[in-house]
Amino acid sequence: MFDLAGRSLFVAGHRGMVGSALVRRLASEPVTVLTADRAQLDLTDQPAVRAFIRAKRPDVVVIAAAKVGGIAANNDYPADFIATNLVIQSNLIDAAAAARTPKLLFLGSSCIYPRLAPQPITEDALLTGPLEATNQWYAIAKIAGLKLAEAYRHQHGLDFISAMPTNLYGPGDNYDLASSHVIPALLRKAHEAKTTGADTLTVWGSGTPRREFMHVDDLADALVFVLKHYSDAPHINIGTGSDVTIAEVAETIAQVVGFTGRLVFDPTKPDGTPRKLMDSSRLTALGWTPRISLVDGLAHAYAAMPK
Ligand code: GDP
Repeated sequence: MFDLAGRSLFVAGHRGMVGSALVRRLASEPVTVLTADRAQLDLTDQPAVRAFIRAKRPDVVVIAAAKVGGIAANNDYPADFIATNLVIQSNLIDAAAAARTPKLLFLGSSCIYPRLAPQPITEDALLTGPLEATNQWYAIAKIAGLKLAEAYRHQHGLDFISAMPTNLYGPGDNYDLASSHVIPALLRKAHEAKTTGADTLTVWGSGTPRREFMHVDDLADALVFVLKHYSDAPHINIGTGSDVTIAEVAETIAQVVGFTGRLVFDPTKPDGTPRKLMDSSRLTALGWTPRISLVDGLAHAYAAMPK
C-alpha cells in the first residue's frame, strides 16, 4: 500500500536497540535513512524537533526513541518514564503533523494493555481495565502516544499509525542489572556466574509469570512490513504468538550461556503482570510471520552481548 522505494525515513532513536535494528534492516531497502545524534537534536526540545523535521522533510518518521527500562527502573523512576516519553512523542508527532509527513509510525509496548486482559490480548483490549502498577507510568505515556497519532490521523487525514511490539531482546540491549529487562539481565548474570564458577543464578520473583519474547531483528522486519502494508486508525500488535514462563526462559538462557549451576528464585522481587501474550493475528493475516526462534535468538543475543 505504501511504497518505500525512493523515500527518506527519519528513525528517531537510532542508537537504541529497536532503532539500530531498524536501521540495519533498512539497509536492504531502496531508501535513504536519516538519523540525528543527541548532540545534533534534543528530542525533548520542541522548537528544535519542529525545525529539524521542517528542514529535512522526511517522507516517513519512525518513533523508536523512548525512555525504556525493566520492572525495577520503572518502579524507581516513574516521573522520568512518564514525562520524558510524553514529551518526546508529542514533539515528534506534532512536528510531523506540522510538516504533513506522509507516514508516521509510533511504537508502543504490550504493557499498554490491562493487567488482567484476556489472553491472547487483542488490540481492542486497550482501556478495558486497570494497568499493571509496576509500569503504569510508561504505559500511560504510550497510550497517550498512540491516541495522539490516531487523533492526528482522524482530524488531519494523516497516515499516522501505531504498532505495539511484545517484549524485545537482542543486540544493543541494556545489560545494566538495575534497569534492564529480564533477558539481558539473565544473560549477564548467567555469563558472570559461569565465569566466576558460582553455583547459583538468582532469578527475580516466582518464575511463574509468562512473557512473549521477540528478537529485535524480527521486530525490525515487521516494522518495515507494517510501514508498507498497514494503514489504519487502530494500533497493531507485533508478537510471536507464543510465550514461556520466566523459569523456562531462565533455563534456556543457562543452557545457551553454558551455566550448569542451580536457579534460585528471589520472592522479594516483583513478578509484574502474570501474563501478557498478545494476539498478533491482525498482523499475520496481512502476511507477516516471525522467523527467529527463542533459542536461536538468545544464542545470537549472547554472542552480541558486550563481555
Ligand atoms: P516486565 O515484562 O515489564 O515485567 O519487565 P521485566 O522484563 O523487567 O520483567 C519480566 C519478569 O522477569 C518479571 O516477572 C521479573 O520479576 C522477572 N525477572 C527475573 N529475573 C529478572 C532480572 O534479573 N531482571 C529483571 N528485570 N526481571 C527479572
